[in-house]
Amino acid sequence: MKKAGVYELHDLKLENDALVLNETIFHNANGYIGIRSNFEEGYTDGYDTIRGSYINGFYDFAEMKQAEKLYGLIEEKQTMLNVVDSQEIQLILDGERFTMFEGTVAESTRILHMEEGYSARHIIWRSPQGKEVEILIKRMTSFVRLSMFIIEYQVKALNFEGNVTFLSMHKGDVMNYSNPDDPRVAGESFKHLVPICAKYIGRASYLTTDTSKSALRVCTGVDHMVFSDTQIGSEKSILQDVVMEGHQAAHKIELEITQGETVSLVKYTAFSDSVHHQKPESHACNELKKALAVPLEALYAEQRAYLSDYWKNASLEIDGDDELGLAVMYNQYQLIQSVGKDEHSNIAAKGLSGEGYEGHFFWDTEMYIMPFFTLTNPKISKNLIEYRYGILDQARENARILGHEKGALFPWRTIMGKECSGYFPAGSAQYHINGDIAYAIVSYYLVTKDVALIWEKGAEIIFETARLWMDVGNYHEGQFHINDVTGPDEYTCLVNNNYYTNVSAKYNLYWAVKFYHILQELGKLQPITDKIGLEYSEIEAFMQAEEYMLLPYDSKLKINPQDDSFLKKPVWDIEHTPEDRFPLLLHYHPLYLYRHQVCKQADTVLAHFIFEDAQSIETMHNSFEYYEKVTTHDSSLSTCIYSIMASKLDMKEKAYMYFGDSAKLDLFNTHRNTKDGIHTANMGGNYMAIVYGFAGVRIKETGLHFSPFLPEQWNSYRFKIQYEGSLILITVDSVNIKFELVSGNEKKIIIYGEEFMLDNLLNIRNIRNQP
Ligand code: BGC
Repeated sequence: MKKAGVYELHDLKLENDALVLNETIFHNANGYIGIRSNFEEGYTDGYDTIRGSYINGFYDFAEMKQAEKLYGLIEEKQTMLNVVDSQEIQLILDGERFTMFEGTVAESTRILHMEEGYSARHIIWRSPQGKEVEILIKRMTSFVRLSMFIIEYQVKALNFEGNVTFLSMHKGDVMNYSNPDDPRVAGESFKHLVPICAKYIGRASYLTTDTSKSALRVCTGVDHMVFSDTQIGSEKSILQDVVMEGHQAAHKIELEITQGETVSLVKYTAFSDSVHHQKPESHACNELKKALAVPLEALYAEQRAYLSDYWKNASLEIDGDDELGLAVMYNQYQLIQSVGKDEHSNIAAKGLSGEGYEGHFFWDTEMYIMPFFTLTNPKISKNLIEYRYGILDQARENARILGHEKGALFPWRTIMGKECSGYFPAGSAQYHINGDIAYAIVSYYLVTKDVALIWEKGAEIIFETARLWMDVGNYHEGQFHINDVTGPDEYTCLVNNNYYTNVSAKYNLYWAVKFYHILQELGKLQPITDKIGLEYSEIEAFMQAEEYMLLPYDSKLKINPQDDSFLKKPVWDIEHTPEDRFPLLLHYHPLYLYRHQVCKQADTVLAHFIFEDAQSIETMHNSFEYYEKVTTHDSSLSTCIYSIMASKLDMKEKAYMYFGDSAKLDLFNTHRNTKDGIHTANMGGNYMAIVYGFAGVRIKETGLHFSPFLPEQWNSYRFKIQYEGSLILITVDSVNIKFELVSGNEKKIIIYGEEFMLDNLLNIRNIRNQP
């Protein structure tokens, strides 16, 4: 019988590909630190895995080689660092060292407990000399004590007694992973860390390390406790010793075990760094001492309590498909593991699970991940907006580099605010990131009505991004055009009037005007206009550009062309492209791709989802059918959007199929690159495929809208959302849709276009499921 909230893999194979994949799948993270799930004891010759421990927002600068020295091209990027290795624990039984590659592995299971917040390895091993042990290794990165990573290593002697030695390592001299053949990870390895100090205080070792260029500091502290199930309370003779050598510490812990006894080594690592803390050394030291002073059970209990709170609002219950239900839960678990919990960090494209995209933050945050947090945990969305506000000055500088006198342009990919995209056609040219950030701020405002955040930070971002559109665009024959930009689809670059970009700029301008008036009415406008020198004449210009924004439309096909030239190009023959040539980006020159009608990901179809009121249903329907034929979904940001739009357009089977693809992407490694990290945008998109897709949720100025149906494969599904401070539970089955006000004030909600007042309970017929 499967336990709810538990993902398990049994009889694990020792193939390199499977090992490296599971390092990602079972990694532990809490939004501050992330540790790949490497074998504590290591591997054997010939294995190439990725060993890493990361801190959200902690980076060094690295050279970005440009073939030609053109003005404004960046020559330096930020890269997330592997900061330490405190995973290693060698287990030695009377001189015999445990390894999965010798002796007999009678059982090998990996487990992820998503309600308890830890992962585990369970192994039964017989040594070459016949000693049998049962090993259970639990790992936890605490959500309550963000600095803490804990390994509980239990060993049970099944058929022997004798000496058990743990050799537990703490290594500060580590490097990042690189692969010169894959543009999605760093191309070359560089020594980013400079050892500063290695010392021990009592039994604890401390390593302090600086970055080579960014002048940041990281400090980690490691200490241990030892327990036995048969000698609790009594003194067991344990020998403990620490040897420091170079920038590493070896902790040796020796004791005697009797047959049937279980001994546990608990290894505590505290992380601290100078991006998040003023004094990393003393902070690491305090956090380590505090954690050691609390019983281990209490650390597990606070983790459980944190997650119980999380799932209370986040949980999406699906009745009818356990496998997909588990995959959806896995995705949501990864989102809370990955997202930064303060304004210094964000959520990287791969979370904290691997080095793909070098720990960079993209538009993924605003368009794919924030919708989930805004509806279930708006405090996190607020942090994410504050992070963007924190880099607004750098976005202003970025705009100047690109030749814009006014406004701000957010970097396409970054950690601390500077642009990190080396290839501008599919990077910096994606100006839509400005519209995306504006869109996410507006959605946050519409859901929370947190107007204070708008006058403190949000409005300034929206005015500055709006200003940029005025500078990048121009009027031509009475319409406002935006030329030479790249939309979301990275197989079509540097185009004029990308429909998605124009429609999101329009929304950005509309809301700049709107917030101007809202803040004026509240008497909160002047500090901002004074600060950024915003004139009313600019607001008038925003209104005009918004009104005359060109939204390309093709009257023959009755669709919105992706841009001015898209429909004039030859169509790529996806059907006859050999399977092994996907993703196309790894097999075709970019220019060859750009000259074809072929999309890496949803672009116009995404615009139809986000800005559905801009077009008729008929146009969106035609667009969907048209773009579906030319989209490869090589980007993981695509199928979830196709699912949502298929739901909107009543293509229920298709919606379910795309939803399934999105749900399974990482657990089933369907993009074949999960080894480099999870795909956090898809994980947020997967949530949206249910809530915005099947349940038809939309957040608009007119209110909170629903238009649910039940996929025929399911019996029911239910989820909660927060809206204007109230918590609403929605249950959808094939006959009814139930809305319950769980807490907060009554709310007006709009179901299938009709207004209702939700003051307690509402039961509506599920008309989209009726024949
Ligand atoms: C996608 C981008 C995305 C990036 C990071 C790329 O493959 O095309 O839209 O932002 O991955 O997830």
